[in-house]
Amino acid sequence: MAKPTLTAVRGMNDIFPPETIAWQQLEQSFRSVLSRYGCAEIRLPIVEQSALFARAIGDVTDIVQKEMYTFADRNGDSLTLRPEGTAGVVRALIEHGGLRGQTPRLYYLGPMFRHERPQRGRYRQFHQLGVEFFGIASASADAEIIALSARLLAAAGIPAQLQLNSLGTPESRASYREILLQYLRPQAEKLCGDCQERLERNPLRVLDCKVESCQLVAKDAPQLLQHLDPESAAHFSLLQELLQGMGIAYVINPRLVRGLDYYHRTVFEWVAEGLGSQGTVLAGGRYDGLVEQLGGPETPAIGFALGMERILALRALAQLAEADAVPALFLGALDDAALTAVFRQAEGLRANGLSVVVAGPGSVKSLLKQAQRSAARYQVLVGAADLAAGDVLLKEQEGQGEWRGPWDELHRGLTALGVDFT
Ligand code: ATP
Ligand code: MG
Repeated sequence: MAKPTLTAVRGMNDIFPPETIAWQQLEQSFRSVLSRYGCAEIRLPIVEQSALFARAIGDVTDIVQKEMYTFADRNGDSLTLRPEGTAGVVRALIEHGGLRGQTPRLYYLGPMFRHERPQRGRYRQFHQLGVEFFGIASASADAEIIALSARLLAAAGIPAQLQLNSLGTPESRASYREILLQYLRPQAEKLCGDCQERLERNPLRVLDCKVESCQLVAKDAPQLLQHLDPESAAHFSLLQELLQGMGIAYVINPRLVRGLDYYHRTVFEWVAEGLGSQGTVLAGGRYDGLVEQLGGPETPAIGFALGMERILALRALAQLAEADAVPALFLGALDDAALTAVFRQAEGLRANGLSVVVAGPGSVKSLLKQAQRSAARYQVLVGAADLAAGDVLLKEQEGQGEWRGPWDELHRGLTALGVDFT
């Protein structure tokens, strides 16, 4: 077959069943965990004004500098496909007054867009589940949202390591930035091209660069944790106490800086094995200054996002999902007259919760082939003659189970062969 000329955009995936079933199952178990932490869903536009991301994420970040899908719409307005979810949530809350005297806990789930080099675990359209807690400055919110993240990963069956760091306040970070630059500048030629280029703009980013030569330089760099202001230090130690109290294990990674500008104090990542440098499955942090920066009331906040594709890649769910996608019953009509009866029967059974596929009219041979392909557990082939005579034959496709009886009592036959209608 010739290669199709119309294809999906590079880095943007089509998702077919049974993989979609795996997605749904994962989403469902995540939603159930989220409700146990008092979180409710928010659904937002996928496109926002470009200015939102430039202001929220920061002009000097990789996302804003090179990864955004930005375009002018027909009115000439500059719009951007959202590269992340937090900015939109904050924009919406400010716009609708959702932060006045309230402490919302919200989650979102949906596609994000970043123009990155596609590879395993890294796509141009990918999906995030994100959670945001607003209005609580205490490290208790940090501890609770991290406990929630731990429970989500446990629900997904993903073993991962929790890494923690504190970035302090913007002031302590700014003074550390100078200390770090003094250390990095003399070694600039050892850094990768990206880091050399962003050294003056965003030196902290060098610390979590994945390139080996940069990691060697970063290894001995002065640590931000050593330069925290006293309040951030107290915040960080309360967080650790609370995590220990809940029995949540963590390691402190002094080089964890996160790619976005808006973080403040706590940052954290969950890193799983098996995806190489795409091993971060969930990442987040506190962003106390962002709401004000976007024109809202001063509001402390903390949040995280997890990458659905990375979680699913780690979870061999496809087989489990397959069982779910298989219909219980195949109903084949041998002629036009039987087709009406087959449709009526199928609708009745579906109304009672059974999964049914219908086919026909067709020959016995072609229907049997279709029945087999459907992988349905049971099958019935029926023609006008069978309906006139009264009885039909219900058969198990793989096993020996059989039931012969009146067409109108097919549900009885299914029950007899083990279908549970409750
Ligand atoms: P990375 O360091 O891997 O580029 P990031 O710091 O850019 O990640 P965040 O913006 O914090 O990632 O997004 C949170 C999570 O979303 C990541 O931990 C990851 O699981 C997922 N994610 C981010 N970018 C992509 C992508 N391009 N494709 C698939 N998943 C992604
Ligand atoms: Mg990235």
